Amino acid sequence: MAEYKTEQKKMLSDFLRTNRDQAYTAEDLVEGMRTMYGEGVPALSTVYRLITRLVEEGTVKRFVKGHSRRFVYQIVEGEHCHSHLHMKCIGCGRLLHLDDRVSDELLCAVRQSSHFSVNEEATVLFGQCASCDRGGCGEEKKQGEKTKC
Ligand SMILES: [Zn+2]
Ligand SMILES: [Zn+2]
Repeated sequence: MAEYKTEQKKMLSDFLRTNRDQAYTAEDLVEGMRTMYGEGVPALSTVYRLITRLVEEGTVKRFVKGHSRRFVYQIVEGEHCHSHLHMKCIGCGRLLHLDDRVSDELLCAVRQSSHFSVNEEATVLFGQCASCDRGGCGEEKKQGEKTKC
């Protein structure tokens, strides 16, 4: 039984790792894993348990999606996530990585103008990502099209 759980946990982290730029609700995770691995993926209740574990371990971050009360999850373990700022989309809940260089420039500007040293790891910029800013549904707008969803 224990091994079985380890297997499922690995499946979950593999899935998150493959889709590291996306944030998922627990339901989306089950759905996504089913598409990717077929049958044998953990059930929703197991996903909740496993994801809570990963959040505690610090590999996964949990965010509130938009103004809803639903949580989305995204993997944050990264090669150099300590060397840049992160941007959090309040629309879809995704966490985006700011370019290292841009990040440095920004922090340097703050330090010079305000003599304030920003804690990079603890700071998240809130706003809207490219797809959410475009009209809300995340779908690419066709050229010349003005309609909003
Ligand atoms: Zn990062
Ligand atoms: Zn977004």
